[in-house]
Amino acid sequence: MKVHRISLLVLIISLVFFWVTPMSASAETTYTFTGGGKGHAVGLCMSGVLYAANQGLNYNQILPHYYTGVTIGARGGVDASLIRAKVYSAAWAFGVKGNGTYQVKNSSGTVIKSLLSGSTITVTYKGGGTYEIKSQTQGTCTVTGGMVNLEPLTTTKFTFPNGLSYQGKIRVVVPTNEGVTAVNILSIDSYLKGLAEEPDSWPTQGLQTLAIASRTYAYRRTITNASSSYDIDNNGLYYIGVRTAPNYAKAVNDTRDVIITYQGSPITAAYSGSCGGHTENIEDVWGGSPVAYLKARPCNWCKTIKWYRWGPLTYSKSRLEAIFKSHGVDVGSLIDIDISNRSAGGHVRKARIIGTAKTVTVWGYSQLGSWLAFYPGVNSSLYWISKSGSTPSPGTSPTPSKISTASSKLYAARRVVKIKQPFGLTFNTNPPIARAHIFVRRRVIGIKKWGRYRKYRTHPRGFINLVGRIDKSSVYEFYYPGNRTYKGVRKRLVVRVKR
Ligand SMILES: [Zn+2]
Repeated sequence: MKVHRISLLVLIISLVFFWVTPMSASAETTYTFTGGGKGHAVGLCMSGVLYAANQGLNYNQILPHYYTGVTIGARGGVDASLIRAKVYSAAWAFGVKGNGTYQVKNSSGTVIKSLLSGSTITVTYKGGGTYEIKSQTQGTCTVTGGMVNLEPLTTTKFTFPNGLSYQGKIRVVVPTNEGVTAVNILSIDSYLKGLAEEPDSWPTQGLQTLAIASRTYAYRRTITNASSSYDIDNNGLYYIGVRTAPNYAKAVNDTRDVIITYQGSPITAAYSGSCGGHTENIEDVWGGSPVAYLKARPCNWCKTIKWYRWGPLTYSKSRLEAIFKSHGVDVGSLIDIDISNRSAGGHVRKARIIGTAKTVTVWGYSQLGSWLAFYPGVNSSLYWISKSGSTPSPGTSPTPSKISTASSKLYAARRVVKIKQPFGLTFNTNPPIARAHIFVRRRVIGIKKWGRYRKYRTHPRGFINLVGRIDKSSVYEFYYPGNRTYKGVRKRLVVRVKR
């Protein structure tokens, strides 16, 4: 949901997985998407914010255009409120390092241990609310009572295996249905300064608008999620911790305590990349009840910005069938996609996926648009589809008819990888990057099993890290769209990261 400036950085990652033996693709029906916008289009259109700010408009002019009937003003004490942001998780254990001294406390605040500067500790969940804290230099201790608190004495930041660092306190918990999880506890304004939602080079008025929207969003989460293990994670706002962004930090300071309210309550300040010319009613994107301030609004400000229009992007029938199936939608042989159900803003509200076996109705953005987002292009609900006879899609590799293991070197060159939300294949990088080029190279050595991947290789100019569960067939489908049979030859993936 960001507009990133791209410069070249090359990172190499060894990632081994089983090779793919393809099924050959035959001439078949294609579906070509053209459209506009990027993201859900509810609330602020960030491309519009950028344009308006460049025209000299301020947040008092920009925000009410997108949020209907709201009030913008200072509410004392917001900046001093604490927020609990999930920053790291692992199945059972992870390492963390403070750059100074800090204390290990239990849930009732009792000091269990003090650690010296530079100690790396491994926090392991032992079950039953008990954790083992093992220090390289300070021995081992056990913390009971369901949580561990790491509280700084002279430490100014805690660093995790993915290379990201966070100031403030760290709390370790095991939320329901999650692994052992690190939660960063700090003031809302300190948290805001660690967000990487937009580049620091944005115009001042744009950064101030963003700061107010993010503050409102974060503050509201501290109210609505008060009984949860944490208030927010990176699905809410994109938080990378210690970040050098002086312009944005100044925008946070200059808008201290300013939030957006509706009838006295902080709003859910939704925003997305580009609306394509018209924002959306929230109920037309995700269903549920209408929200008075999240109404479809015309937007002329994003017209000159990337993503206003995109495409054409062409998908073969079998590729779409495979993608739909990976999301649990199996209609048999695909016959057509009906996108005539549109919202007042012109976006696809719901799509009917029509097949020989059945017809399934899905949401235009949160399902169909998002499912295709990883294949570069479709990541909105403003689109049109034409069947067959279409031009090849720019930015995507043609579907290979056959993959030869003998000629596999450098095969699949330069597929653009979205960094967020690809089938659970997620790249966290520092500094954040917009996209990566991936291609396959040579046979490889050592691999772990499928599943949770962690740090692969650091690089003096950054690092890249794969987190979360990687589903084998999803990865195959990404690299070799349309191919559905796989055979076990090990390969190395080289990831070139552009940012
Ligand atoms: Zn717009």
